[in-house]
Amino acid sequence: MPEPNHKALAHLMAGVTRSVLWEAWSESTHQGPPARLHCRAGRGRATYHRFHPHSNRHEIVFGALMVADKQMPDRGENWLSTREVRRRAYWNGEVSTLNLLAHTCCHEFAHLQQHCIGQRHYGQVHNPAFYQLLDGLHASGAADEVRRQLERQARAQQLQIDAQPWPAPAARTLQSLFQPGDHVRFGQGKHLKTGRIVKINRRTCTVEGMGRIAGRRYRVPGPLLEKISRQ
Ligand SMILES: [Zn+2]
Repeated sequence: MPEPNHKALAHLMAGVTRSVLWEAWSESTHQGPPARLHCRAGRGRATYHRFHPHSNRHEIVFGALMVADKQMPDRGENWLSTREVRRRAYWNGEVSTLNLLAHTCCHEFAHLQQHCIGQRHYGQVHNPAFYQLLDGLHASGAADEVRRQLERQARAQQLQIDAQPWPAPAARTLQSLFQPGDHVRFGQGKHLKTGRIVKINRRTCTVEGMGRIAGRRYRVPGPLLEKISRQ
């Protein structure tokens, strides 16, 4: 069950997404009849953007259990948004509850923008066009403003939102996340590589390349690895 605090933070994220990201963006784009945005808190873990064509309405949901996960390093490390903050060095790659919640607002909003420019494709939503939009939200200062507003409004409502950075995932976490034989992905864009884990070290995994890099070995830091499937 989500605690009232988590639901209240999810609600706050919905409000900040609308007041900071949506209002600036919908003022700067004038194409066709203006769509509406319904931004809300959900009770479960599900966090998503969806477009309802019949009512010309965007919907963004922030799950209260997602907020709960992002308060606990053990659970928070499993979210794509956590890997994005580390891997793309948003806020110098510093992961904290505050950074993760602010980044999650941007992540879902980038899906909205991605839909609007016709770059959201079934089965490959986290594509280069998406990351270009997400990088843009960080580079323009919009992500900073989201973080500032979240922090300010949380404090005003006496809600707990921790800005203390989490330590990088330790070896113990790496051992619990991966096993030899796991198929993994690492790198980005045209440098994306796939391989198989042969050994788990303290902070890295030794990965044997597959496909065009077959036979080559890499020592890859844990946070940069993404599991595809388990052998
Ligand atoms: Zn996404």
